[in-house]
Amino acid sequence: MSLDPQTLFIVSVTNLLALAILLPLIMGGRLSPAAKAARLSLIVHAGAWIAVILSEQTTSQWANLVLSTLSMGCYSASHWLLYRALSEWLGPRKLRRTLATLAVTMPIGYAIAFDNYAWRVGWANLLIALQLLILAQATLHPASKRHGSWRFALCICFSAMAALTLARGFLGAFHTDLYPSFATPHPINIMSLLVANAAMILSNVSVLVAWREEAELQLRELIAVDPLTTLLNRRGWDERGTHAFSLALRHQQPLSLLSMDIDHFKQINDHYGHEAGDAALRLFGQLLHEQQRTGDIIARIGGEEFCVVLPMAGLDAAQGFERRLRSLLDSQATEKLGFSFSFSTGLACLTPADRSLENLRQRSDQALYQAKNAGRGRLVMHDDHLPGIDRASFSTT
Ligand code: GH3
Ligand code: MG
Ligand code: MG
Repeated sequence: MSLDPQTLFIVSVTNLLALAILLPLIMGGRLSPAAKAARLSLIVHAGAWIAVILSEQTTSQWANLVLSTLSMGCYSASHWLLYRALSEWLGPRKLRRTLATLAVTMPIGYAIAFDNYAWRVGWANLLIALQLLILAQATLHPASKRHGSWRFALCICFSAMAALTLARGFLGAFHTDLYPSFATPHPINIMSLLVANAAMILSNVSVLVAWREEAELQLRELIAVDPLTTLLNRRGWDERGTHAFSLALRHQQPLSLLSMDIDHFKQINDHYGHEAGDAALRLFGQLLHEQQRTGDIIARIGGEEFCVVLPMAGLDAAQGFERRLRSLLDSQATEKLGFSFSFSTGLACLTPADRSLENLRQRSDQALYQAKNAGRGRLVMHDDHLPGIDRASFSTT
């Protein structure tokens, strides 16, 4: 069986155009910046191939130069757009400036060296291969466990393409007789076109999987958030709180848990209406947000009940947090809501005997119950921390 580059090229371009036309329709209009960049990359990539086809048809040297350079520019731009999509999906990537420089200098150098086949083919393929290698490393580094195996599929595509592009550049630059044109049936050229076709399909499947993964992560975050206050809900709090609890226990670091409940909230609803009650909850949530340090886990876990996990915070730090919140609420509630309200707090600090977050939570709830019984509007510590109770706790900050 013999494969000719012309047929392979036509098959590749047909596949690419079909994807470039259909994928935007399938993906729809409401896309994240990453998905938009990936989709645009595909369209621009298709533009690069169309420019190559048109350049092959023209007899004018000028039109050939313009179309071929446009094709190289589109190719570089499609790589840059894919890199941006990866940066959105995986976080900031390395070698951003290097890729931007390669993307700009490749078509410029190509146009300047256009009359010299060996130079232009060597130059363009070398710089394209470097772009592909940067994309390949951008799929993996910096690494994150949150993201799926689509990264490895993309890395394989980019690496294979980089290797073959480099080989083509080498042939064009140093063995021009073996590779005198884009349509030369040299095995490297045939292999390149086959791999380009497979890589194009595989990379687009990977992009679709990345897009689905992004939607899943967003959904997972959404189901962990309370829509009224935008704090975590009980589910999110449990998940993150348990993680922080395990870390603190393993490293014998202090951790505090505050259970808070707004006082006589039912009366607020009854007196001022449900809307005013909602506004009070939002304000309370906002003030909690303002107090939040990195790592603090704050949630609305029920109607007017809030829970806070403070990693690396002992008794004093937790009391300070609560005190600041209370004074913020005192100074802002009347001004912002037209009425004031108070809250009660139960505090428990991690001890080596605690086996689960729930243990700690039960103790802070008992303390909260005592705060309510003692007249509300106050903080009560669980009696593990009252003087005279001999129970070890981790050193406090
Ligand atoms: P205590 O001081 O003992 O905590 O009394 P309380 O009135 O705060 O507690 P209770 O449990 O009797 O009432 C809680 C009220 O919170 C009842 C419920 O209608 C109200 N509530 C729960 N969720 C919401 C909400 O999302 N918005 C509003 N406006 N009210 C809510
Ligand atoms: Mg309550
Ligand atoms: Mg209450």
